[in-house]
Amino acid sequence: MSKESGIPTFRGEGGLWTTQGEPPLNQYETFAADPKRWWERRLADARTGNAFGASIEGAQPNAGHRALAELEDMGRVAHVISQNIDDLHRRAGQRSLTEIHGNRLWMRCVRCGARWPREDIPVDEANLPPRCAAPGCSGIVKGDTVMFGEPIPPLALARCEAETAQADCFMTVGTSAVVYPAAAYPIEAARRGVPLIEVNPEETPLTPLADVVVRAASGEALPALVAAIRERQNASHGEGSR
Ligand SMILES: [Zn+2]
Repeated sequence: MSKESGIPTFRGEGGLWTTQGEPPLNQYETFAADPKRWWERRLADARTGNAFGASIEGAQPNAGHRALAELEDMGRVAHVISQNIDDLHRRAGQRSLTEIHGNRLWMRCVRCGARWPREDIPVDEANLPPRCAAPGCSGIVKGDTVMFGEPIPPLALARCEAETAQADCFMTVGTSAVVYPAAAYPIEAARRGVPLIEVNPEETPLTPLADVVVRAASGEALPALVAAIRERQNASHGEGSR
């Protein structure tokens, strides 16, 4: 969904990793071996800036993000599982949200899993890495984005599994459906007989499982869905008053 907000994708043609090379696969191992050094590098990078960071901070939610938040307000979307790290769902007003790969603008404790917006974590350059302030924890704090080699936070996984188990309809939006574990949830839901809706301009490995396929970009399809639901609601209200 973020591509429509001007954020470069990682994989595929023109993707960040395609043009600049993938980050090292042992990223998390390097962090865990020396968190202080990781923090020093991060602070140095923040001073010089980078194109991806700038594109995230300047990006705005698009019509697709806004429509999804509206579907939640309308009681039609119970939960969103996102693989994006760009904060755009939250900025669009989504409340029930699991960011399975973290959020680039947040921080997380590696011990207890608590998460905070980065401005809420005081970073003392003379005393790195920052430590968790949760009572009795004092775990090391890192960027919330899940690194290569880092396990997906267990709290996020548990939430995704619980939401999938409760879902009575599952809609995938704009995902290539190849990155696990996220790709497993719609498959799990479909196996239970839950209707699966796919919104994607292109065919994906989930297409054969989908009950409804919408071949359009999210910025186009989701606002149309909101409009269609409103129209139907208005029509039924009209009938009720007769
Ligand atoms: Zn903690």
